[in-house]
Amino acid sequence: MAEVVLRSVRKVYNNGPVAVADADFAIHDGELLVLVGPSGCGKSTLLRMIAGLEDVTSGSIFIGNRDVTHLEPRDRDIAMVFQSYALYPHMTVAENLGFGLKLRGHSAADIAERVRKSADMLELGALLQRLPKQLSGGQRQRVALGRALVRQPQVFLLDEPLSNLDARLRTTTRAEIARLHRALGTTMIYVTHDQVEAMTLGQRIVVMSDGVIQQIDEPMRIYQRPANLFVAGFLGSPAMNRWPGTVRGEANGAVLAADDATLPLGRSVASQHADIVVGVRPEHVHRISPHDLSYEIRFDATIDLVESVGSEAFLHARFGSWPVIVRVSPQDLPAAGATISLGIAPEKLHFFDATTGQRIEPD
Ligand code: ADP
Repeated sequence: MAEVVLRSVRKVYNNGPVAVADADFAIHDGELLVLVGPSGCGKSTLLRMIAGLEDVTSGSIFIGNRDVTHLEPRDRDIAMVFQSYALYPHMTVAENLGFGLKLRGHSAADIAERVRKSADMLELGALLQRLPKQLSGGQRQRVALGRALVRQPQVFLLDEPLSNLDARLRTTTRAEIARLHRALGTTMIYVTHDQVEAMTLGQRIVVMSDGVIQQIDEPMRIYQRPANLFVAGFLGSPAMNRWPGTVRGEANGAVLAADDATLPLGRSVASQHADIVVGVRPEHVHRISPHDLSYEIRFDATIDLVESVGSEAFLHARFGSWPVIVRVSPQDLPAAGATISLGIAPEKLHFFDATTGQRIEPD
């Protein structure tokens, strides 16, 4: 087990973009940390630099107080799991699990013991004599995990390990990884583009965009207080509603004004920010009766589309030119074209500077 420390780690590929700009943070000893962001944001590059598969352009990397910046991958005491399982097709599961240890000169008895322990943890015991072609995709990915497990490394690095699995298997294997992490207590760094994986697995999440770290925190803290518009839009499904406009003070309180809509804000925002974007999560917009005055912020919207996923439904509506997505229970759904009344509690609004995208705390 070990802490991983990144000090101003930067990567610029030859003639390429800045893939990672000054990553400067620590992954705690025993933590499961998720690097998340859209394709091309630099998360795999960062992971591969920690693994030693990619040189750093500048900066340093420490694993357990050891400066590993210029060490070979095999000397870093890490084990990596990739999206492609890359099992040896002619070897049994047991041989696949033990092969790396054999190359490193472990004794047959030690290999057998480690393979048995890992197979137990991953419930692979009954499959040890099978060849990879006799396994399902989920079982192959478990063998790939097992191959990392037998190494008993200080740090596990996982690069989109669930991407090749279908939706149901992704959910069960995700739970399996969380369970493994709890059982082992080993530091894990997990890369994904999937915000649901990040939210459900990560003890902390690092959100990246264009090589730049946008926010590092516990999942719910990021969800509740996104640092900027990018994070607000990236975490959460459907995404946070975002309405650009100009703040105007009026007799009854501040409003957000656009060309064709005016939203009461219920409280003022910092007056130096005239052009802002107001955000609100779909679960914080409530469908109300037109006579219900209990919400300070009320407005009417026209329904474009109704989507039910069984357990819940989403109303896609319009308020002037602002699109509004409302999360509702799937009972008594309105029809497309209907006008509905909506209410929002003022404390559920998020404010962002329209120019910089940065979060603004209300006055
Ligand atoms: P992610 O894992 O978030 O999808 P990557 O780390 O793979 O992102 O890539 C980050 C950026 O670096 C992208 O713009 C990508 O095109 C570029 N990149 C990745 N690998 C290389 C490489 N070997 N050579 C040049 N550019 C690369």
